[in-house]
Amino acid sequence: MSEKVREFKYVSYLWDDAKAASLEGDEVALLLYRSNLLGADLRLTNYGGGNTSCKVMMPDPLTGAETKVMFVKGSGGDLGTLKRSGLAGLYLDRLLALKKIYRGLEHEDEMVALFNHCIYDLDSKAPSIDTPLHAFLPFNHIDHLHPDAAIAIAACKDGEQINRELFEGSIGWVDWQRPGFDLALKLEDCLHKNPGIRGIMLGGHGLFTWGDTAYESYVNTLEVIEKYSAYLHEHFGKSKPIFGGVKGTSLPGEKRKQQAANLAPVLRGFCSSHTRMIGHFTDDERVLEFINSQDAERLAQMGTSCPDHFLRTKICPLVLSLAPDEDLNDTEQLKEKLSPAFTAYRAYYEKYYEDHKHANSPAMRDPNPVVILYPGVGMFTFAKDKQTARVAAEFYINAINVMKGAEAVSEYVSLPLQEAFDIEYWLLEEAKLQRMPKPKPLSGKVALVTGSGGGIGRAIAEKLAAEGACIVLTDIVPERLSASLAELQQLFTKDRVMAVKLDVTGTDTIAAALQEVCLGFGGVDIIVNNAGLSISKGLLETTLGDWDLLQDVLVKGQFLVSQAAVRIMQRQKMGGDIVNIVSKNALVSGPNNVGYGSAKAAQLHMSRLLAADLGGEKIRVNVVNPDAVIQGSNIWANGWAEGRAKAYGISVDELPAYYAKRTLLNETILPEDVANAVFALTGGLLNKSTGNVLNVDGGVPAAFVR
Ligand SMILES: [Zn+2]
Repeated sequence: MSEKVREFKYVSYLWDDAKAASLEGDEVALLLYRSNLLGADLRLTNYGGGNTSCKVMMPDPLTGAETKVMFVKGSGGDLGTLKRSGLAGLYLDRLLALKKIYRGLEHEDEMVALFNHCIYDLDSKAPSIDTPLHAFLPFNHIDHLHPDAAIAIAACKDGEQINRELFEGSIGWVDWQRPGFDLALKLEDCLHKNPGIRGIMLGGHGLFTWGDTAYESYVNTLEVIEKYSAYLHEHFGKSKPIFGGVKGTSLPGEKRKQQAANLAPVLRGFCSSHTRMIGHFTDDERVLEFINSQDAERLAQMGTSCPDHFLRTKICPLVLSLAPDEDLNDTEQLKEKLSPAFTAYRAYYEKYYEDHKHANSPAMRDPNPVVILYPGVGMFTFAKDKQTARVAAEFYINAINVMKGAEAVSEYVSLPLQEAFDIEYWLLEEAKLQRMPKPKPLSGKVALVTGSGGGIGRAIAEKLAAEGACIVLTDIVPERLSASLAELQQLFTKDRVMAVKLDVTGTDTIAAALQEVCLGFGGVDIIVNNAGLSISKGLLETTLGDWDLLQDVLVKGQFLVSQAAVRIMQRQKMGGDIVNIVSKNALVSGPNNVGYGSAKAAQLHMSRLLAADLGGEKIRVNVVNPDAVIQGSNIWANGWAEGRAKAYGISVDELPAYYAKRTLLNETILPEDVANAVFALTGGLLNKSTGNVLNVDGGVPAAFVR
């Protein structure tokens, strides 16, 4: 078997003979295995891009007769994680029969609905637009991928000629055409005219390759892409410098991050003029090479080529004309400087829409840029959620790779704007968007919860994440933080949850943490000051150390975190929420509570003062007053439970029932109850309330706000 293993330099050969042998005889399993290997190497295809298929004889459930069935990746999903549930299984003879009723190019979209009449496997995923492209090629195994190296040839001026010479005619060529039934017929025609070819290049789009077996298709695909890659590498920097040569240099790494974090909230504000956006930042070296080059501005304006690229990144990025080390601190000055660029971009997009729309085109979508390039610093991307923003960045890096390759061997050619528009506003694409789930109440928002390594803070973070927010967990104890992070990422994906170590009493660590947040999500919208501790002592036992610690963590902590967050909120200019987790003890006098109760009262009054300060900027400041949350709470450590039990003359075990009984509702208060209150204040229904206190204590009349 070892003679099978080929040497590859630019792609990863991952085929495991033993693994494949264990799947022998199950062509669908082999298809999935091959697809996962292909999807694991981003040099082979972009995220979510491309599709694979196999054709296999199966018994017809109605007649028992053997019939040929094609299994092909269905609409959506990614090859790297493709499972059987992501495939569509269709009768091949029925798909081929569709050719007889096809009415021509202007009617090709109607064919998509007919694919459903060809379904063999009732558990099929919806068949994708690429289904006939696989059906009309008579090969058992087919790979359709979007490798940057191949698209570089597909998107250059002399692409067809280079392709012919490089493969001596063994890879066919079909000019750019929007994917659909008609393109499938063109592929079939190309094969008829060029019998014996090993693949077909689609101009401006991607590659089709195939084989009799899953393995043969895999190796053929790898060999072809390897050859494109090697060809590009031979040419990089040879006849001309990469991207026309270096124009500027990057700031040093740490400075880039500071500058990006400082700018991100301002950009986020601009990009959120229609819909609230989440940000992503990267200073990947491929991005820096591009944006620091002579040709960056010219190429960026030309727009991207592969449809996948511009669907994710918009037709072109916004290039900022700021010096890498520009002083970004004066918010108003900065906005004045940036505002014309955003106005011009939106106007450009509106014109693009107006110039290319058809009578039945969907309404214009958000005209703000998705990709923003800052020479010397890096690339920002903004989208309705973090995953989409991150993937947009990946796609723009794909586009950069394509432009780099195309310019090295020839001249980069972007797709004509009308073609780009017809894909972007394709009715089938619009239908896909309409099928997407409605956004949750906190979608597009970023929430930072202090002390969220466990207990109430973790419950709050989980609730806000469940309602759609991106979450920043913070805690002073690294082990608590990492445990909480792992759990919540499991529930809500790595994209949506990040963690930063934070000591709420230190300005430096607060600044460092918020820098991470701005780089991670572009800014912040909701601050929950929850970090706390408690000490139960009378006046004479309370030491100065006890007093200072409570004041530091509860009062100064709330002050410092709010101050740092409001600076970011002001730069975004999108309002915001501060929710302070205070306590019934802010209002009720009890024994042995002088230090804690005083600090809680200060937190409460500070909340009202901040509400008065920040209302003009639509930043709401509200308070949740819980009482006696025992489960999972940190404050019951440090002898607090014993202290309270002693103060009431009962045992520690009797505390929960004691607390429940003294409430009007006779309820035990759980962390989730406090979390629900935070959501109630931030979820949108109470947007006209600030300076409020919401009790979550089962009803304690002494703590009613008078
Ligand atoms: Zn494609």
